[in-house]
Amino acid sequence: MARSEKTSSGSEAAPGSARVVVGLGANLGDPRATLAAAVEALRALAVPGTDFALSSFWRSAPVEAAGPDFRNAVAAFDTVLAPHALLDALQAIEQRFGRERPYRNAPRTLDLDVLLYGVRGSDGGLVRADDRLVLPHPRAHVRAFVLEPLAQVWPAGSLPGRGSVIALRDAVRAAGEQRLERLED
Ligand code: AMP
Repeated sequence: MARSEKTSSGSEAAPGSARVVVGLGANLGDPRATLAAAVEALRALAVPGTDFALSSFWRSAPVEAAGPDFRNAVAAFDTVLAPHALLDALQAIEQRFGRERPYRNAPRTLDLDVLLYGVRGSDGGLVRADDRLVLPHPRAHVRAFVLEPLAQVWPAGSLPGRGSVIALRDAVRAAGEQRLERLED
């Protein structure tokens, strides 16, 4: 089950805020502790008292990345941060967890991605791209480690131009190429 206090993820955001979906991944150090701490850091970006929906934790094989298996999750919450400010905040959290980028797709302590910004109901929100931020995240629709937890926190959702979250998840399941396992804790 999704770890949501309420089941309103994907509903209207609080006034003056946007509902966002963030992907979390870690595969170095102690991924379990890192993700737990990262979730708490994300909670600090959320509007107090609003629904913070957290998926299960998942274990995935690295895709276009080196090193041990990843631990992944997805969180959906309301924030007053504008898109670039949210990216800045996520990158600051990554830095706090000691992420280094010696080369492209190097193993990472913590990876935080803005998957979607401004979701409403089943609508996937902003579609835009600049040199720092591409929305929706350009690989969200093909990654099992995004789609499985996303389907837990936002089952009614659609990715702009890609189709429903459930259909996309079912497609990666049917392809069966990405090893993924739901964890119990
Ligand atoms: P990664 O190494 O996969 O974490 O990619 C980080 C880079 O992707 C950063 O330079 C970001 O500016 C860029 N980027 C583009 N779109 C996004 C997004 N939706 N979420 C996070 N990073 C993004």
